[in-house]
Amino acid sequence: VFNKDFGQHILKNPLVVQGIIDKAAIKSTDTVLEIGPGTGNLTVKLLEKGKKVVACEVDPRLAAELQKRVMGTPLHRKLHLVMGDVLKADLPFFDVCVANMPYQISSPFVFKILLHRPLFRCAVLMFQREFAQRLVAKPGDALYCRLSVNTQLLARVDHVMKVGRNNFRPPPKVESSVVRIEPRNPPPPVDFEEWDGLLRIAFIRKNKTLAACFHSKSVLKLLESNYRIFCAAAQPPRRAQGCSKGCSLVYSLGLPMHKQQEVPDKFDIKDHIDAVLTTTGFGEKRAKQLDVDDFLSLLSAMNDADVHFR
Ligand code: SAM
Repeated sequence: VFNKDFGQHILKNPLVVQGIIDKAAIKSTDTVLEIGPGTGNLTVKLLEKGKKVVACEVDPRLAAELQKRVMGTPLHRKLHLVMGDVLKADLPFFDVCVANMPYQISSPFVFKILLHRPLFRCAVLMFQREFAQRLVAKPGDALYCRLSVNTQLLARVDHVMKVGRNNFRPPPKVESSVVRIEPRNPPPPVDFEEWDGLLRIAFIRKNKTLAACFHSKSVLKLLESNYRIFCAAAQPPRRAQGCSKGCSLVYSLGLPMHKQQEVPDKFDIKDHIDAVLTTTGFGEKRAKQLDVDDFLSLLSAMNDADVHFR
C-alpha cells in the first residue's frame, strides 16, 4: 500500500524509465542524485550507468525495500541512501539529477538545485504536466509566469516527453511530463533576490502594464523604504553581492563602492521610478510579453537609479 502523503506513484512502464535514463546521458564517472527512489525502478538503471547514486527517500519502509532489492548484487556498494526530506537535506555534490518525486515539492526543489553549488550538468525530472508547461513557457504563452522567467534566468529547460496517468501505480489524478533542465554555466551575474523582488512586482498582474504594477501603494512604499536605506549607507553595489542564503550566484563585478548620498527634500519615488520606466520604454509593456533579457535590462536600469528590490 502506497502512502498518499508522500505522493507515492510508482513508475511501472519500463519504456518511460528507459526514456528518462537515456535523456540523462549518464557517464560511468557520474555521481547521480535521485530524489524519492521508491521501490527503485529508476535507481537500478542509474546504478548500472553511473559511478555512484545518492538517493534521498523520506519513507523508511521504501528505503528498506530498495536496500533489499540491491543487496547481494554489485550495485549495492554504489548506492548511498539518504533518509529524510530532500527539502531539509544538505545536497551532496552531483553531476546529474534524476527524479520522479511528489509534485507538491516541485517548485522549491527546482530552486534548491539551481541555487546549489557547484553546478550540476543536467537534471531530468518528472512533473505534473501543467508545472512542466510553466517551466518552458515563453512570453505570450498562456502559462508564462514568474516561475517561467525565474527558471529560464538560471537554466535552459526542455520538455522531453508526456507521460500519461496510467504509467503509474496507483495512477495520479493529473497528467505528467518529463523535463530536462540544464543550468546556465556560468550563472548570470545577477543578485537572485533583487531579481525575484522585481519579478514579484511585475507579475502582480501579468496583463497590466508595468507602470500600473509599480504605481501600487504598497510597492511604492516598499521601494521608497529600500531607496532611503540604500542612500543612507555606503556599500558595495547590490547587484554585485552574493545571495544572502550563502550561495555564490553572483560574481564580484569589481564595481566601485556606492557612496552615501542625500535624499532631496522633494524626492518622489513615483516620479523617480516613472523616469526609469519611460527612458527604458518598459512602462507600457506587460510582464506577459517580456523575456529574461528584458527583465535583466529593467533590473539593471532600476539598480543604476538606486532602486532596489530587497
Ligand atoms: N521514483 C519512484 C518511481 O519512479 O517509481 C517513486 C516515485 S513516487 C512519485 C515519489 C517518491 O518520493 C516516493 O518514494 C516518496 O516516498 C518519496 N518522497 C516523497 N516526499 C519526499 C521528500 N520530501 N524527500 C524525499 N523523498 C520523498
